[in-house]
Order: sequence, then structure tokens, then C-alpha cells
Amino acid sequence: MNIRIGNGYDIHRLVGDRPLILGGVNIPHSLGLLGHSDADVLTHAIMDAMLGALSLGDIGHYFPPTEAEWAGADSLVLLGKVHDLVRSLGWRVGNIDSVVVAERPKLKPHIDNMRSKIAHVLQLEPNQVGVKATTNEKLGPVGREEGICAYAVVLLSRE
Ligand code: MG
Repeated sequence: MNIRIGNGYDIHRLVGDRPLILGGVNIPHSLGLLGHSDADVLTHAIMDAMLGALSLGDIGHYFPPTEAEWAGADSLVLLGKVHDLVRSLGWRVGNIDSVVVAERPKLKPHIDNMRSKIAHVLQLEPNQVGVKATTNEKLGPVGREEGICAYAVVLLSRE
């Protein structure tokens, strides 16, 4: 097989006194995501999709939340490490598609910036990185603004 597909999902809780970072972009908002790292759910979902495509487990295995080294980590740096691993095994990212589910704030103005940042780390063109945003129609925990979640699929091809 010269292509592999992976999917990833993540959710983090919204709290006060935390920055809201999605796809490496610091987005002005009254709430931010709680987590050991910067809690960037979008980047976490993409990393899990990349690892999943090669059956390499999940990010918790590589960057355990129990390790001080990863406290407050910039998830784009972690994404770079996952990318290095994928490349070292002879694979490269073909394309990514993702969706962030957040009731607020409006993410549309930040989408292209997220795509550029993720593409830069993965040495891709922005048109290989799809990021979409939707609300949860006020349903469930995401709809009640208790958290933000993200889903991603990644296609890898052999170098
Ligand atoms: Mg996470």
C-alpha cells in the first residue's frame, strides 16, 4: 500500500484565564481551552490522524500529560515532531481535512491563518490543509460552550 488514511478527534474544556489557541492561532475570546499543553484541539486531532494512519498510537503516548516537559507546550512544535516521525518512516502528508466545532467565537476570520501555520510546519501548500468550522447548534457540551472539539482526517503517501 502506498497510501494510508488516518482520523483523529480531540476535545478540551473551555475555562476562563486561558488563551484560545486553534491551529496555532491565538484567537481573542473570553474563554480558552484547558490542557497540559496549549490545548490546541485542532492540532491535536491532526497529530492523532497522522499517527493513526501508520497505526502508531496516539499523542498521549508520545507527549504524556504527566510529563513536565510538555507543560504549556506549543502544539505546533509537537506537530513538527510527529511530522519528523512520519517522514523518518518514509511517508509524507498528501492532504488534511478537518473541522473545528465551536459555538463561539466566530472562527472564519482565522481559518486561513490556521491553514498557513499548519501547512508551514508540515511543509505543505495551504491548499493541502482543509480547515472548516461549524457550531454544534447549541446542542450538547460543545453547544453549551463547555468545550471545543475537532475532527481530522489525513492522507499519507509513501515517499
Ligand atoms: Mg488534546
